[in-house]
Amino acid sequence: MSETHILLVEDEAAIREMLKLSLSKSGFIIEEAESVRQAQTLIFNRLPELILLDWMLPQTSGIEFARQLRKEPQTQQIPIIMLTARGEEGDKIRGLEVGADDYITKPFSPRELLARIKAVLRRTSTTAENEQIIVNELILDPAEHRVTVLDEEVQIGPTEFRLLHFFMTHPERVYSRNQVLDQVWGGNVYIEERTVDVHIRRLRKALALHGYDHLIQTVRGVGYRFSTKMPQY
Ligand code: CA
Repeated sequence: MSETHILLVEDEAAIREMLKLSLSKSGFIIEEAESVRQAQTLIFNRLPELILLDWMLPQTSGIEFARQLRKEPQTQQIPIIMLTARGEEGDKIRGLEVGADDYITKPFSPRELLARIKAVLRRTSTTAENEQIIVNELILDPAEHRVTVLDEEVQIGPTEFRLLHFFMTHPERVYSRNQVLDQVWGGNVYIEERTVDVHIRRLRKALALHGYDHLIQTVRGVGYRFSTKMPQY
């Protein structure tokens, strides 16, 4: 949960190796891709917490990929830092326009990049992800990895925790099983839709002990919704 996965999309092996080495030392888990296609496969298996994206890539360019990532609901929120070559001032502006969160000009030192990564993570996902989410007496604390109701701990497994975290941060909206899979499991093709039902049942059971199972509502024929409003049947 606390491990930060970074997807590095860069076609130059030497740069990838250098960055992987230095960022791994700082505790990040680095996934490498040398093309957009490879990156897409990795993202499909697991959503990274941040993407380092080279501008100049064979076939699909970094900028085109950034644009795609911003369009897809499941990748929209992932922070992107563009790696650009010297003198591509116009490109930097275009990069930020399509939704990159920052850019860094090659050549750069690993220390400089690390500072940028930390700054972007602070600004974006990490802060939001570590904030307590409160719904009535139900409190989910991502930093402590704990769910409580009136100071009593709700006993749930890691998947139910992620599921509840997703629902609490996306309330009052219906999600299909497939969308829940994409959001919580990262769109891995090998997980069946009914897996969602299994974990929803477990989550409800755990919440029921504290009188909060009504928040996870089944929307017949569509999927699930987290709502504080009483369901209409
Ligand atoms: Ca390149």
